Amino acid sequence: MSSERPVDLRSDTVTRPTPAMRAAMAAAPLGDDVFGDDPSVNALQERIAGLLGFEAALFVPTGTQGNLCAILSHCQRGDEYIVGQQQHCYRWEGGGAAVFGSVQPQPLEHAPDGSLPLAAIEAAIKPDDPHFARTRLLALEDTLGGMVMPMAYLEQATALAHARGLAAHLDGARLFNAAVAQAGSGGDPLAEARRIARLFDSVSVCFSKGLGAPAGSALCGSREFIARARRIRKMAGGAMRQAGVLAAAAAHALDHHVARLAHDHALAARLADGLRGIDGLAVETPQTNIVFVDLVGPARERSAALLEHLAQHGVLATGLYRLRFATHLDVDGAGIDRAVAAVRRFFA
Ligand SMILES: *Cc1c(COP(=O)(O)O)cnc(C)c1O
Repeated sequence: MSSERPVDLRSDTVTRPTPAMRAAMAAAPLGDDVFGDDPSVNALQERIAGLLGFEAALFVPTGTQGNLCAILSHCQRGDEYIVGQQQHCYRWEGGGAAVFGSVQPQPLEHAPDGSLPLAAIEAAIKPDDPHFARTRLLALEDTLGGMVMPMAYLEQATALAHARGLAAHLDGARLFNAAVAQAGSGGDPLAEARRIARLFDSVSVCFSKGLGAPAGSALCGSREFIARARRIRKMAGGAMRQAGVLAAAAAHALDHHVARLAHDHALAARLADGLRGIDGLAVETPQTNIVFVDLVGPARERSAALLEHLAQHGVLATGLYRLRFATHLDVDGAGIDRAVAAVRRFFA
């Protein structure tokens, strides 16, 4: 292992709170949020709800719990939600909605751009017939694997869901990455986030990914929906007490860490550019902060050896055959250049 601090590109969750964020946490006024009197939690919930155009919001410890509370608040036992095969709330959450809520997922294959074909959504909606689970919800994700979902698609898919009496939930763990990418230079990321969010009945956002908070997500929706979600959160063990220390970190992140996501996106592009042209690597052009690199041909067999070599040179990534590098608050240009150099040395 190199003696320098590793360039940790395994995920955008690995960031440590900055000194300014720690100061905001230390200064946060606190109460007991189960009694509803933690001023920092209340302020954050009002703020994120207002910012994304909803009546209410609920602070939850994790994005997984935010999605669970959402699905179980939209659906009853024996209902189903339509979802993409690669989406977090189907594939990466231990089947929680099925395990805890007896809600059946109906997974669909994604198109190459990450969208779910409208005809496939339409075909998956079950008629009212005792043979079938009741289709109640369409769950989408933006960004999905770092890809920004096209606005026209989000508009059409949510309109289809609503026309067929389904609710629509957005897993917006990285909604602000999508919003920043969509805003481009000169645009307003918060306006873009609101433009995406208002298509949905509920949206969950993570503060612990690119925004750099140590923990915490918010679920947004109508007042009545959030009241249901609050019961689920309690059952799931997610009702915290002086949670204002975490809410203050999230509020600090909203103040200081949204616009800067553009920097993470630029670093991801710099990484992808640096890795292009290496024989044995197929580099995808990143849309936000995640770079996927496939090992192809004979290089495929050297996937584990590459990760090992990178770790020895102080560069951490994940994946086998398909490597994943995520940029974030705790990586800079020098770190990216170190990562590129380490990969190039391996193939030299
Ligand atoms: C990380 C992530 C989650 C879950 O967040 P945790 O806080 O790790 O539980 C949900 N959805 C997406 C798309 C994510 O990337």
